[in-house]
Amino acid sequence: MQHVRIIVIGGGAAGFFGAIATARINPFAQVIVLEASQQLLTKVRISGGGRCNVTHACFDVKALVQNYPRGNKALIGAFSRFQPQDTVAWFNKHGVQLKTEADGRMFPITDSSETIVDCLLSAAKMAGVKICTGTAVVSVEKNASEFTVVLKSGEKLECDRVLIATGSNPVGYKIAEGFGHTINTPVPSLFTFNIRDESLRELAGVSVNPVKLRLNIPEQPQLEQTGALLITHWGMSGPAVLKLSAWGARALHESKYQGNLLVNWLPELKPEEIRDKLLATKAEVPRRSILLHRGIDMPHRLWQYMVARVGINSETRWAEISKKHLNLLIQELSQGQYLVNGKGVFKDEFVTCGGVNLKEVDFKMMESRLVPGLYFAGEVLDIDGVTGGFNFQSAWTTAYLAGLGMASDEG
Ligand SMILES: Cc1cc2nc3c(=O)[nH]c(=O)nc-3n(C[C@H](O)[C@H](O)[C@H](O)COP(=O)(O)OP(=O)(O)OC[C@H]3O[C@@H](n4cnc5c(N)ncnc54)[C@H](O)[C@@H]3O)c2cc1C
Repeated sequence: MQHVRIIVIGGGAAGFFGAIATARINPFAQVIVLEASQQLLTKVRISGGGRCNVTHACFDVKALVQNYPRGNKALIGAFSRFQPQDTVAWFNKHGVQLKTEADGRMFPITDSSETIVDCLLSAAKMAGVKICTGTAVVSVEKNASEFTVVLKSGEKLECDRVLIATGSNPVGYKIAEGFGHTINTPVPSLFTFNIRDESLRELAGVSVNPVKLRLNIPEQPQLEQTGALLITHWGMSGPAVLKLSAWGARALHESKYQGNLLVNWLPELKPEEIRDKLLATKAEVPRRSILLHRGIDMPHRLWQYMVARVGINSETRWAEISKKHLNLLIQELSQGQYLVNGKGVFKDEFVTCGGVNLKEVDFKMMESRLVPGLYFAGEVLDIDGVTGGFNFQSAWTTAYLAGLGMASDEG
């Protein structure tokens, strides 16, 4: 194997995984990771609320790619070479056992992201990867077959292959653009919805599972998601909202985070079935107050909010419910309308939609189609997944494949 000099820009999940893979596959490779900040693997450390949702227990490639609003087609081949099963095996081999939660998310059994950080740090050390912190790269040039990596300090480093693993940092995009790559405009993904409704906010903490959400943004296709919804102090969060924010990331950015959200609080019931249940309650407890006696199985505070929202007086008894109010209640329960007017932060996970255009990258080994010897991995690419471990998985996969490419004798 050749004695190749490799520089990895970025000491995050993708940078580390790529560097380790390269150094392990080609023991003659000299691999250096350059990290701008003083801390390594910052996002891994804070990920998944400090637990690090490493991957997702979805081992069927076709099903797996459905979780990527951007990158799903390009990832089919990549995942056929390195998928969650390989991630589990990799961490296992490096002494970290992962466990699967009921919703498929996979975490280290220690429930601590430090386990993953420590594992990557020691695997890098064992593989002989050299790591430089506080070493920001400002530009990269290519002359003949060599790359020159220019540091903020003014120092210049020469190498044969470069991996750009700079996440969503603008400098990474600038370096890629400098080599002729197209950057699809970066915009946020995985966020919560702000909803201006004081009474709804009083329900903060109430969660309903499942709900069916439909998001209407003028001149954009309607988006739909089903799953758990959590009412917050600012509006709505939970897996269904986060998924919607991911699929609608661009459309919502263009609409300045304004949209009309339809919430079906009871997706398992048809409107006629809701009517039957409400009429049955009316027949069973005609003298009870509507506010105090739920007509449907849902959190009590939410029921009370629905009753108030359609204008039913708090004194009204079931026997007195008007046809109009009955219809409004059914409408509210199956198609409640909420105005989204802004986005909030989901602090457990967020990513950037956009980045290096995937058509310009050969997904076999993540090499640039424009510049031989230049590789990309992780969030710098126009790939992002929904919440649940899918973002790290694409980072592991693209970084591992880049490692194969950088370690190889070809080129
Ligand atoms: C709060 C939070 C929680 C998350 N939790 C999860 C989770 O549980 N599961 C999941 O799948 N995903 C999670 N994600 C998403 C996941 O963290 C990212 O998808 C992943 O970190 C991307 O890895 P990366 O290596 O491509 O980029 P990054 O992790 O962003 O690493 C890039 C690195 O490059 C460095 N860098 C940038 N520019 C330069 C430069 N010019 N010179 C030198 N160094 C540079 C940066 O300092 C950084 O260290 C979370 C994200 C956040 C913000």
